[in-house]
Amino acid sequence: MKTRILVGAAGLLLVFYLLPPTPTTTPVEKYHLAMGTVVRLAIYAHEDDASELFELAANELDRIDSLMSRFSSASEVNAINRLAADRPVAVSGDMARVLTRSLWFARLTGGAFDPTLGALTGLWGFPDARVPPGDAQIDSALALTGHAQLELAENRVRFLRRGMGLDLGAAAKGYAVDRTVDLLEAAGVEAGLVEAGGDIRFWGDKPDGSDWRFGVQHPRQRDDLVVVDGPKIRALATSGDYERVFEYDGRIYHHLLDPTTGHPARRAVSATVWAETAMDADILATAVFVMGPEAAVELIESTPKTETLIFYMEAGRLEQRTSSGLRGHTRTTQRSEE
Ligand code: AMP
Ligand code: MG
Repeated sequence: MKTRILVGAAGLLLVFYLLPPTPTTTPVEKYHLAMGTVVRLAIYAHEDDASELFELAANELDRIDSLMSRFSSASEVNAINRLAADRPVAVSGDMARVLTRSLWFARLTGGAFDPTLGALTGLWGFPDARVPPGDAQIDSALALTGHAQLELAENRVRFLRRGMGLDLGAAAKGYAVDRTVDLLEAAGVEAGLVEAGGDIRFWGDKPDGSDWRFGVQHPRQRDDLVVVDGPKIRALATSGDYERVFEYDGRIYHHLLDPTTGHPARRAVSATVWAETAMDADILATAVFVMGPEAAVELIESTPKTETLIFYMEAGRLEQRTSSGLRGHTRTTQRSEE
């Protein structure tokens, strides 16, 4: 431990002495549109190197997007959705990794997170949805979902039912963040952060020695943030009912679907999960949202190196619950005060 601190300190000194006058205590930042959202790249690097590093990162984000997006007909996901009911389809290494992890969590969460909701999410049609589908349509779509009907063996996938489809919308953003962080770290960037629509991963120590700290958006008060001190876990993601929404007949509908009912999940208002990778955090935030506070806290307590903060309604009131590792470490503040 001591050695690490010493090495860290020496590294810092080098940065300070070799690179002035660039202010290394503030990161160089860039925004890039990918995965249907704004991706923020913030790296502690020399200005001169930044544009090349940002290009590397943007290319990687675009590459993952073009594999995993349901909204591009040329994507690998859509090729699988077209072919995998007829025969086993060989998939890329990236796809195999995302599917393996997705199936693992689908089983662990009892299907609250399910990567095979394509037929159902296609029927709802977020983000353009304006009218909820009828019950009969929902039942037909539900019959074409279920992770147990997805076979993955030796990097080949097959659907056991015709009409099934993958939707990796709850995992792919996190995976893209992980890949981008890996790439930037491998390129020698000692510290930084990548965020895609609320999925965050950071690495290294900030040159000014301060801790990485994050505010979680309060789901109902736009100006409020919940500041969480610690945990020392590198990634976090949030799923909220306020992200993609429409109102119909006086009722609000959002894009996080309960795979048992086929309707928007109602047990939570927002769910934030900390995990060692952004993909795990992304997947678990969606699962925790669907499961609701009791089952979710139980799941998170039994999963090493994860924590959660959940907002939910009880008797008409907004309540908060955290896993034990965050107890006493959260406080709500005004955005303007941070
Ligand atoms: P996220 O914002 O990461 O929670 O992901 C939400 C997206 O994942 C939605 O837009 C759908 O494409 C998809 N999705 C919705 N509900 C689920 C679910 N229960 N399990 C897996 N994916 C889901
Ligand atoms: Mg997610």
